[in-house]
This record gives sequence, C-alpha cells and structure tokens, in this order.
Amino acid sequence: MESMSSVLKKYFGFADYRPYQKDVIQKIIEKKDCLVVMATGSGKSLCYQVPPLVVKKTGIVVSPLISLMQDQVMALKQRGVRAEYIGSTQMDNTIQTRAEHGQFDILFMTPEKACTISSSFWSNLLKEGISLLAVDEAHCISEWGHDFRVEYKQLDKLRVFLPDVPFVGLTATATEKVRFDIITSLKMNNPYVSVGSFDRANLFYGVKLFNRGQSFVDELVQDISKQLSSGGSTIIYCITIKDVEQIFKSLAEAGIEAGMYHGQMNKKAREESHRLFVRDELQIMVATIAFGMGIDKPNVRQVIHYGCPKSIESYYQESGRCGRDGIASACWLYYTRRDFNLGEFYCQDLKSESQKKAVMESLRAAERYCVLTTCRRKFLLGYFGENFSADRCGNCDNCTVSKKERDMSREAFLLMACIHSCHGKWGLNMPIDILRGSRAKKIVEAQFDKLPLHGLGKTYPSTWWRALGNQLISHGYLKETVVDFYRFISVDAKGETFLASSTPDYQPRLVLSLTAEMLGEEENGSTQEEFKTLATSESEGFSEAERQLYQRLLEERLKLARSVGTAPYAICGDQTIRKITLTRPSTKARLANIDGVNQHLVTKYGDQFLQVIQKLSQELNLSSDKEATVHTNEVRKVSLVTNQSRKLPPAKLEAWRMWHEDGLSIQMIANFPGRSAPIKEQTVAEYLLEAAQDGLPFDWTRYSEMIGLTKEIILQIQGAISKVGSTEKLKPIKNELPEDISYQHIKTYLTMLNCGVSSEAIQPGDHYAGKDDELVNNEASISSKSLIEKCDLTTNDIPSGAVNGGYQLRKLPFTCERELTSKRQKVVEAEDINSIQLKATESSIVEWLKNLDEGATLIDILKHFKGSNEDSVVELLNCLEGDFSIYKKGSLYKIM
Ligand SMILES: [Zn+2]
Repeated sequence: MESMSSVLKKYFGFADYRPYQKDVIQKIIEKKDCLVVMATGSGKSLCYQVPPLVVKKTGIVVSPLISLMQDQVMALKQRGVRAEYIGSTQMDNTIQTRAEHGQFDILFMTPEKACTISSSFWSNLLKEGISLLAVDEAHCISEWGHDFRVEYKQLDKLRVFLPDVPFVGLTATATEKVRFDIITSLKMNNPYVSVGSFDRANLFYGVKLFNRGQSFVDELVQDISKQLSSGGSTIIYCITIKDVEQIFKSLAEAGIEAGMYHGQMNKKAREESHRLFVRDELQIMVATIAFGMGIDKPNVRQVIHYGCPKSIESYYQESGRCGRDGIASACWLYYTRRDFNLGEFYCQDLKSESQKKAVMESLRAAERYCVLTTCRRKFLLGYFGENFSADRCGNCDNCTVSKKERDMSREAFLLMACIHSCHGKWGLNMPIDILRGSRAKKIVEAQFDKLPLHGLGKTYPSTWWRALGNQLISHGYLKETVVDFYRFISVDAKGETFLASSTPDYQPRLVLSLTAEMLGEEENGSTQEEFKTLATSESEGFSEAERQLYQRLLEERLKLARSVGTAPYAICGDQTIRKITLTRPSTKARLANIDGVNQHLVTKYGDQFLQVIQKLSQELNLSSDKEATVHTNEVRKVSLVTNQSRKLPPAKLEAWRMWHEDGLSIQMIANFPGRSAPIKEQTVAEYLLEAAQDGLPFDWTRYSEMIGLTKEIILQIQGAISKVGSTEKLKPIKNELPEDISYQHIKTYLTMLNCGVSSEAIQPGDHYAGKDDELVNNEASISSKSLIEKCDLTTNDIPSGAVNGGYQLRKLPFTCERELTSKRQKVVEAEDINSIQLKATESSIVEWLKNLDEGATLIDILKHFKGSNEDSVVELLNCLEGDFSIYKKGSLYKIM
C-alpha cells in the first residue's frame, strides 16, 4: 500500500486533501459503500481515483458517455496513472484482456458494457483484485433526475458478481429523492454519505430578459468577441437546433471561429467539435444541452444559456461546467417569456404521469429563477435544500446591480387583496384579469366583476402585474403551488400581515425594484459593466510582465499539448500556470513543490518547462524563484481579504504562518530558535489576533484552547459586557469578572465578535481527538459545508492546497499539535543524547524521514545531520524533491 498523501502529491501534485475527500477515500479503502454528493469542481473524482492507486487494485468506473471517458483517460495518463476504457469505440482489442489481468489502475466503462460484459471477466479480474466500483453521474439512475438512463437502473446486477467490492455513487445534483433512488437502486449497504455545499463561490450568476431575433444575436456576438482576448472558453447553450445554427452563423459572419454541437450532426462531426473545444483549439462552443454531460474541461470562463433551461437541476449542472478550476467565471441566462410555455414540448415523449409532473415542476422552478429579484445564489442553494445564511451573495446580478426602486404598496395591496378574494383557487392570470377589468366569461360566471377591485388596475399591462406578482413571490408575500400541472396563487403569511395592516386608503410602505419587465424591454446597462469586470479578473493580481508571461506560458502549454496529442489542461491546470507565473521556479524541486505539479509532469516535461520559464522570465525582466506567498484572486470576494492582509507587518504575518501553516504553538513561536531574541508569548497571541482581525484564516477552536477560553467563560464575559454596557474599555469589563478570566480572554472574545464569529465556533474539548482537519475560519460560523466551500478554490478536479484570503491554507500536519510537539521534542531529545556528527546523504535523509510520519522542517533536518552544512543539505533535499522521493508540505519535508 502506498500512503494516501504520497499518492496525492505524486499523481495529482497536491499536498492536501479537502476534508471530505480524505474521509470518503478512507471509507472506500475500508470497503464501505459511499455516496458522494458534491458540487462540480469540488474534486469528487479524486474519491475514486485515489483508492485504486493506494491499494494497487483496479478501480472500475461506470460513466455515461464515451467522450467523457476518453477525456478522463487522457487526463489520467498525463498524471502517470494506468487508465483505459472499454466501449464500442475502443480500437485496441487487447484492452479487455489486459484489463482482466489487472493491468490498469482505473478502468472506465459505460453502464451498458458493465451490464453485458461476461461474468468470467468479472471473476478473472476479481482474482487480481478490484478496489471499487464507482458510478459517476449517479443521478442518471433516478427518474427524478434530469438525465434518467434506463441502463443505470440495471447496475445492481453487478452486486452478484462483485460481492465484496465497495460501490461508490457520485453526483453533483441530488435532491433527497434522487439520493434515495441512488442508494436503493445500487442496493447500497448502509453507505457512508458525504454531502457537500452546492455553492460555487467563484461563479457569478446573471439573468437577462431578451427578445428573440437577429438584433439580440448581434449584440450577443459583440459581447463574445470582446471576451475572446481574455483567452478563456465559452459555452453557449441553446434550446433548439435552429438557435444553435443561427448563433453559429452569426459568429462566423463576425469572423469568430466556434464549434457547434447538436443531436442532428453526425457522430464524427460532433466528436471533432468536442475534441477541438476540449483541447483549446476552439474557444467557443454553441450547443444544445446534448453537449457535454460532465465535460471534463476545467477552464471554461463563461456559460451562456440562450433561453430558459428546462429545470434548475439541469441549469445548475450546465452552468456548473463553468470555472471548475476555481477561477472567477460567469453564468448568464437569457430568457424570453415564451420559454416558460415549453412544458408541453418537454413532456411530449414522456409516458408516465409522474415523469410529466416532475418535468412541469422543474420548469416552474426554472421560471422562478429567471424572474427572481432577490439573490440568485441563495435561491439556487435553497432549491437544493441548502441555506445560504446571508441575504445577498455579492456575486450575482441582483446583489451587485442597483435597480431602480419605488414604493409599490398601493399596487401590491390591490394584487394581494384580489388574490385573497379568489381564495387561492386560481393562478396569477385570474386576479390580474380582474384588476384589469376583464369581462371574460369565467370572470362574469364567478361574479368577479362585482368585486370592488374589478378594473382598478387598468393603468398597467398584464405583464407589469405579472412582474409584480413574481416579485411578491420572491419576497415571500405570495405563494405559488402546482397541482396536476395547474398553478395556484395564494397570499402567504407575510402578505397576510401586510393586508391586515392596510386599508383601501392606507398601506405600509413596500419598496420594490422596477424589473426589466416593468420597464418594458429596456436593457439594464450596468450588467454589461459587471460582465467585463469578471472577464478581466483572470489576470488580476499580475503585473504587466507577469500577465505577458502567463499568456506565453499558456501558449507553450498548448504547443506541448498539441505535440503529445492531449488537452492543455491535462498537462496542468490554469491555476498551476498562474502559480508558475508568480513563482517562476528555476529548479525541478521548486517546480515540483508547486500545487498541481505531479511527478509525471516533472519527469516528462520538467526540463522543457524550466527552460521556457527561464527564457521568458529573462525576456520580460522577471526574477526567478519568487516566494509564492500572496497570490491569485480565484474568488472575487476573497481578493478583498488579500489586499487587506497585505497591510499586516511581516513579523505578525510570520507569527501567523508559523501558527497556522506550520502548526507551532504560541510558546514555540515566542522562543523560535531563528529569532534573534525571544518575544513574549502574550505578544505572539496578540499578533495572531491581529491576523484574524485582518481576515486571515483562523482556527478559533485551537486558539481558544491554547489560551484556555471556554464557552462558559464567554458566557461570563457576555454577562459582564451587558452590565458595563460598552466594549470601549476593557478594565470595567475585567472588574466584573472573576480573577482567572484574563484580559486576553476578553480581547479574544471581542475579536471574535469583530470577525463575526459566534461562540458556537469553539468546539468543545474533542478538538484534539482527531477533529482538527476541520479548520475553523473566521468568516462565519463553522460547518463542514462552509469549509468545503472555502476550500473550493483550486484547480479542476483537484484537491485543496486551499487558498483563502489569498494565502495557502495549510492544514495542520495531521494528528494534532500536541502530538507534533511531543514528537519534535523526541527528535530534539534524541539528538541531545546522541552527539555524533551525522552526515546527510540522499539515502540517509530518506531513511530518517521514513520514521517521521509528520515530516521534518529544514531546521529539524539540519539539527539531525549536524555533520553536513546547510547548503549541501538543501541541495540534497532539492534533488529528492525533484525526484518525488520526498515532498514539501508547508515547511515540512515528508517522505513520498
Ligand atoms: Zn446574490
């Protein structure tokens, strides 16, 4: 068995797993069935890619599409993983026999193949060993999913052939219903279920109302041509093939080369389109949703929906193909009201009533998303049962674009009162018709023309009233329910309260925005501006020379990829190129140390890469081997923190790094040997609080334990503060408290308050019982969900090395600090006794590190090998690192 962490560095180039990945992989190795429900771009696939490499037995992956498998195999091969697929397009007919003999680490197949391949294949392979059977895009199993596939339903048959093999279901989209279906269909036995946040913090969401027609297409083409220079890829999803062809033609007329993909193209042409797009040979893809289920391309910067999608699930999935590498990217949706009437069209091929019903419900939700006037992220997450605690995300059009607003209390009163009179028995059209004074048959028959409200709303067209209705639904005044394809509108609790405090002559103020529908078809100019800001953010944080270097390195990567017949991202992700741009490594060791650089890359292309970096850096007058301290602005919100934290003086920043990244205690930092004179522990503690205040990632549980701050003490401090009535001066607060509660306790609590961290963030004493991979961040109260979200910022399918506030967020070197300290002490003690002058060699370093699970710092190594000078030890370490015999995690060297 190879260790989990060395597999990660060797094949994927990363030093840290995301917290959930580690758990899932561990469970799979223990042969437990698992269900992994995570957002696209959160590194799900690593969960099935790592176990086969650790236990050295083939992993089987069932995947819905051949093209997807081919892409995954291509990328895995670039990482030095023996991956292959069996399927109808496989030309090499020796693959199946070799697979049967366990010659592959990871073997992909379609569900059809998995169900029809001979039982002897399974029994032969079982003799060699099978580490897992993973079902990717597992929502295809469920009729409630948006991609239902009959063949997926039959996968449970494999249980008979593979009795002792763990089954792993993975999906990015799963409501409770779908989740239940996956577990039962795959006959999972008490599975370990890992559900992550669905928030894709780096994605901007925006929606626009448009008029179908050439003038709009021209505008779209113009927008896209502006985007081209920034280098990223764009997918434009259309509802119909006709739209695909129209946009493709308009792009071509504007001289923009694009790919096209839809169901009526022949297979070869589709494959070619897909291939060129994935390999960055084409930057734009115009397609129906037939394109790209699970497309494995991490650097898509923009996904545009031309027309309302048929469900929120599919929208989330399709828009989720954007920005999988964690770099800021945008999802735009353009809709016309006509799109909402496509329900019948979507249902035409469906037989079962339950499927039809599900489709109609889904379309209604998508409609709601389009006409929403509140935060789109909050709505999307809420749809998947996740609560986004803030009301505004700051990264969608509704949260960033200021809309015209006005008091609409009178109109809202009319509409709600009218709906009230209809007793929840109609949809929105009926009350609107009543307000507009219609004398249609059904209105007269129901005697609605006798209502005092009849005709009071003639001044506005029905689209205006409908837009108001939608806003009132968004804000919780009205409620829409769907029963058997019919929609019913009723007044919700908030609306009842409003009505109760209103009379025909007086209504409480109700300020709402004037939406695009209300303003007619007026365009909202400010969204365009937002659009541009986002698109340029890829090179944000670079100097001009660095921007050039980045572009040149992207070109070099493309050339290299062409020459070996693979996709540029398979060589390394855009994020890794960013890091290389910022650090400009001059040695293999430094290159190897960059997150996302794996052994295969260094061995195969290391020299070539280093030469190019050196040549370009010289040309651009950039120095080599810069420290990769502050970098990247993967998420716009986070980049604000980066700027702030630059203000922190170096001494304080250093103290924070030692504490946060290297896991040292306050005492150790205060007395660190490299310091010219020790500083007071209290000073260190204050430095750390300043770092927290400055927005750097901060483990409050660990800090509180270090200074002995408990929830009980916090309660006492809160009591004292409310007695004093102010937090301006500490002394009066201290006077109210018992002796043993210190100023430091009070200061810490006040800093927590300032950082918006609740006392709940402090976990009770089980922190040291192996829970400290749950790093606590000072931004919000803590949950594993928010953690995953916070870590969700790096390259494509790749685990963390999470960046937060622009800093590498290193996890504590496993276990816990106490243990680490005691082990370090042991090393020190041993050396005190043993004063023999040990000389470092490659093998002696490797041998020594083998016994230190938690690794050793350069200082530890120098202390141990006292017979060698620093330069020669550093050189040896560099060689070992460049060879992937060891790797560096934070400041610790570890054995591979
Ligand atoms: Zn928002």
